[in-house]
Amino acid sequence: NRQIHLDNRPQGEAVAGNFKLVSAETPALQDGEVLVRHHFLSLDPYMRGRMNDAKSYAQPQPLGQVMQGGTAGEVVESRSPKYQPGDKVVGFGGWQEYSVVNADQPGALKKVDTTHVPLSHYLGAVGMPGVTAWYGLVKIIEPKAGQTLAVSAASGAVGSAFGALARARGCRVVGIAGGADKCNYVTKELGFDACVDYKQHKDAASLSKALKEAAPDGIDGYFENVGGMVMDAVMLRMNAFSSIALCGMIAGYDGQPVPMTYPQLILTNRMKVQGFIVSEHMEVWPDALKELGTLVGSGKLRPRESIAQGIESAPEAFLGLLKGRNFGKQLVKLV
Ligand code: NDP
Repeated sequence: NRQIHLDNRPQGEAVAGNFKLVSAETPALQDGEVLVRHHFLSLDPYMRGRMNDAKSYAQPQPLGQVMQGGTAGEVVESRSPKYQPGDKVVGFGGWQEYSVVNADQPGALKKVDTTHVPLSHYLGAVGMPGVTAWYGLVKIIEPKAGQTLAVSAASGAVGSAFGALARARGCRVVGIAGGADKCNYVTKELGFDACVDYKQHKDAASLSKALKEAAPDGIDGYFENVGGMVMDAVMLRMNAFSSIALCGMIAGYDGQPVPMTYPQLILTNRMKVQGFIVSEHMEVWPDALKELGTLVGSGKLRPRESIAQGIESAPEAFLGLLKGRNFGKQLVKLV
């Protein structure tokens, strides 16, 4: 069972040397346990925060242990009446090829139906990132049909789901993404009304001008994934009584400063700005996953994936995600 451990903590930017590939024996199963063979590992931006030894809403990733993270795979051996070999499951098995899971522990493992939704999408659009988009849209932005909404990192796992959910509610949706390829995908394949390439703009004033063309009536709701210059530019276009769901600030995860230039606009525009952590709202997951499963099953949401091959590729793929080298949900394929 090959595993990736966190070997040491980043000093500034995360680097490949922070991780270590290790081989370990898989322990024999006890009663109530199952052996899961991982087909996909989920790589997510939040993992960067946990590599630091800082106080946060989640415990830091321990050194010398398997990197924690979401997994999708298949039961290959079972000593639990709840699971049979062949069952497709999602869990939190971490960066390794196999995991031994106590099937009686609540939430440790969930069977998934792969008839209409491919297994990997349960780590993306029909999983944690999809629910994240749903929560920010439905519970924080509270959209009304006809409003203009915007989302940054629009081509990514969370952003693409946000677009489909917002369109289903009759909103005009504007994406912000890095590069022409991502912007083309956002408008042509995801069906956003417009997409602005922030990499074409050197400052917030210039990006804000481009946003004015994409959102001539201003922005009523914004789903923030990035922070910094992108957020400044959107702030300049927000309407009175608009809302921001503050989901992530990936531009600052590797230690870069993400200053906010126009906080006074929150006051003058009487805005609501709310941060949230999706795992603290388990009560919405069933409704959210149901809607997301239907959108994917019916082809209304066609999420894109970046797939790295083999456990040894996980560190580089993860570092790439923090630099925007992924295009859609970043996964590692093991089988
Ligand atoms: P994505 O699939 O969107 O991948 C990350 C993307 O962020 C990159 O592709 C890149 O897109 C963009 N990006 C990376 N670095 C920068 C930068 N310096 N400046 C601007 N954009 C950058 O990831 P996810 O969909 O998984 O996550 C999106 C956001 O949601 C993250 O901020 C994450 O932390 C947050 N999140 C929050 C949760 C919560 O509970 N609050 C739960 C899950 C996710 P591009 O090339 O277009 O710039």
